[in-house]
Amino acid sequence: MSPISPSPDHALERPGRSWSGTVDYGPGPLHAPESVAQLQALVAAAPRIRALGTRHSFSEIAASDAALVTLAKLPSDLQFDTAARTVRVGAGVRYGELALAAADAGLALATMGSLPHISVGGASATGTHGSGDHHRSLSSSVRAIDLVTAEGDLLTLSRDQNPEDFDGMVLALGTLGIVTHLTLDLVPAFTMRQSVHLDFPADRMNGEDLGGMLAGGYSVSLFHHWDGHIAQAWVKQAVGVDEELPQTWFGGHRATAPVHPLPGMPADFCTDQTGEPGPSHERLPHFRLEFTPSNGEEIQSEYFVPRGQVAQALAAVMPLGERIRPLLHASEVRTVAADELWLSPAYQRDSACVHFTWKQLPREVDALLPEIEERLAPFAPRPHWGKVFTTAPDAVREQYPRLPEFLALRDRLDAGRKFSNAYVDRLLGE
Ligand SMILES: Cc1cc2nc3c(=O)[nH]c(=O)nc-3n(C[C@H](O)[C@H](O)[C@H](O)COP(=O)(O)OP(=O)(O)OC[C@H]3O[C@@H](n4cnc5c(N)ncnc54)[C@H](O)[C@@H]3O)c2cc1C
Repeated sequence: MSPISPSPDHALERPGRSWSGTVDYGPGPLHAPESVAQLQALVAAAPRIRALGTRHSFSEIAASDAALVTLAKLPSDLQFDTAARTVRVGAGVRYGELALAAADAGLALATMGSLPHISVGGASATGTHGSGDHHRSLSSSVRAIDLVTAEGDLLTLSRDQNPEDFDGMVLALGTLGIVTHLTLDLVPAFTMRQSVHLDFPADRMNGEDLGGMLAGGYSVSLFHHWDGHIAQAWVKQAVGVDEELPQTWFGGHRATAPVHPLPGMPADFCTDQTGEPGPSHERLPHFRLEFTPSNGEEIQSEYFVPRGQVAQALAAVMPLGERIRPLLHASEVRTVAADELWLSPAYQRDSACVHFTWKQLPREVDALLPEIEERLAPFAPRPHWGKVFTTAPDAVREQYPRLPEFLALRDRLDAGRKFSNAYVDRLLGE
C-alpha cells in the first residue's frame, strides 16, 4: 500500500504513482517549491506544468508527460475569520487538518468527503463531495482562490469580485493555473452522532424508501453489493437538530459492533458508529485521519444521476449484479445538492451518486464499465472527474451546458495550454 501523501523526499524525483498505485503520473520532474514566489518563477519558466494534490484520484486527471508541482512544502497559512465564518487555507492542506484547526476556532466544515486525508486544492478541483440532500460539493464552499497563472502572475479571484465567471474557476480540473490558497465558507462548530443499520429487506431499494433513507439524516451513505438490498446505512445526525434513529429503521437493525464498509476490513480505521456525540469532523468522514484509510488496493468509479431517479438508475444496473460482484469491494449511494459550478457533476441538479469501490482489477473493470454506463445512459450520468470511467468524451461534454463558457475562460487564462494534460485534452477537447 502506498503512503497517503507524498513525502518531502519525492521533491524533484519522478512523481511516482497515485495512492491506489494504479496511475503513473509520468516522467516528471516533480517540483516542490517552498514559497509562492518560487512557485510563480517555476510556472513562468515551465513550458507545461500541472499541480498534484494528495494523489487520491483514480482517473488520470493529475498525470502529465511534463512537469508536476506539489504544494506540500508551502506553509498551511490557516487564517480564520470567526465573524465572517471563513478560513483562508493553503491548497495543499488536508481537510482533516483544516477541520481540527477549525474546531479550535469554534468553526466547522458543513460537509466532508469519506476520507479526511485529501487536499483542499485537489478536492476542489474535481468536485469532491460528501453526502446529504442539503449539502453541496466541497468545491461549492470556496469563495475565493489565489491562482498562479501561465505567466507566473498571482491573481486573487472571488465570488464577490468575479461574479460572472467565478463559478467556472474553482472546479477547473487543474486547467486554469496552480491554486495556492482558497477561502472557504464554514459553519459554527457542531456536534454529530453516527450510527450504522444493517441488512435491510430487499424492497427498501424501491424509489420511495430509498429516497426516505437518503433524506433520513444530515448525511447518509448506503452500501450495497448489487444483490437487491442495502447492506449498511451509515447515518450521521446533527445533535440537537436531527432525531436519533430507532433500533429498527426501514427494516434494518442497528449494528451492535463497528463495521467497515468494505467486507473483511477492520473497523478500527472507521469513525465512531456508537451514536456517541462528537465533533462533526470526527463523524462526517467514514475514515479516521490518524489511520491509513480504506484499502489502497482499490479503484473507484462514480456517476451522478438525478436524485429523483436513483432507484430507477440502480434497477437498470442491477441485472449486471452477478458480473459486478466478483470485481467489487462495495458500492455506495450518497446524495449531493445542486450547485452552480460550471463543470460540477451536480451542476443545477440535485444528485444521487452511484459509486463503486472496485477490487484492483483495472482491465476487468474497464471492460465492464461501458455496460454499466450504457444502462445508466438514460439517466444522463455525469462521471466523477477523479474516478475511473469510460464514457465517450462527447457524452461527457453533452452533460455540461456551460462548457463553452469554461473553454472561453480557459482561453483567456491559459491560451497556450500550459496546464493541460492528455486526460483534459481528450475530455474537454484540445
Ligand atoms: C479512499 C478514497 C476515498 C475517496 N472519497 C471520496 C469522497 O468521499 N467523495 C468524493 O467526491 N471523492 C472521493 N475520493 C476521490 C478524491 O476526493 C478526488 O479524486 C480528489 O480530487 C482527490 O484530491 P487530491 O488532493 O488527491 O488531488 P489529486 O488527485 O492529486 O489531483 C486531482 C486534480 O486536482 C488538481 N489539483 C490538485 N492541487 C491543485 C492545485 N493546488 N491547483 C490546481 N489544481 C490542483 C490536479 O491537477 C488534478 O487535476 C476518494 C478517493 C479515495 C482514494
